[in-house]
Amino acid sequence: MRLELADATLREWDAVVLASTDDGIVLDRSAFFPGGGGQPPDEGVLVWGGVQTRIVGARKTEDDVYLIAADDDPAPPPGTAVRGALDDERRSALMRTHSALHLLNGVVYRDYRLPVTSADMKPLEGRMDFDLPEVPAGFKEAIEAACNAEIAADRRIEVREVPATEAFAIEQVAVAARDLLPTRLEQVRLVDIVGLDVEADGGTHVASTKQIGRIEVVKIENKGKGFRRLRLRLPG
Ligand SMILES: [Zn+2]
Repeated sequence: MRLELADATLREWDAVVLASTDDGIVLDRSAFFPGGGGQPPDEGVLVWGGVQTRIVGARKTEDDVYLIAADDDPAPPPGTAVRGALDDERRSALMRTHSALHLLNGVVYRDYRLPVTSADMKPLEGRMDFDLPEVPAGFKEAIEAACNAEIAADRRIEVREVPATEAFAIEQVAVAARDLLPTRLEQVRLVDIVGLDVEADGGTHVASTKQIGRIEVVKIENKGKGFRRLRLRLPG
């Protein structure tokens, strides 16, 4: 069970080990985000019977989330009751960063109708790629000001599951997804910065834009042929 999808604020929980193999540790209940959509996996620990297993990564298969233990740490055997805990500083920074990229996406779409081609992040730093042959004068400053205005507006960030037909009826979702999502998906998880941005997304987010803090647009790189890379950071 993926606890983080329903509650991104959860940091500690009880679980039982279902499997423990060379591929990793599978829990019956886990809040470790396994990585995806540009958001890297969580890190943290499993505590069991006085032993601590450091979790240095995670990955997802069709059915399960596999937790990767640190090389030198013992893995709990199947059936063990464990206490899971996330590295709060890392996860909280990634939630702010991921929400910042969605907010940026919303601003860029609303003000310039730019299709974003890809995005990536690490804690408190992100980048977003898009096609823009001519960069308008003052573009970087205008983007930064518009992003921080949307943070100050403290828009709610809501997560909900809706039928695929309903999700793809939203223009912004349809444009962004194109052929990226398998059509067999019956339910789509939407992350909605209410009034600004809606994306099909499996990541973890803060609850409102004010929690992002502040966005600094570091630079806009020209990668040639109109391909731009915008780099942002969240100071502090
Ligand atoms: Zn996202």
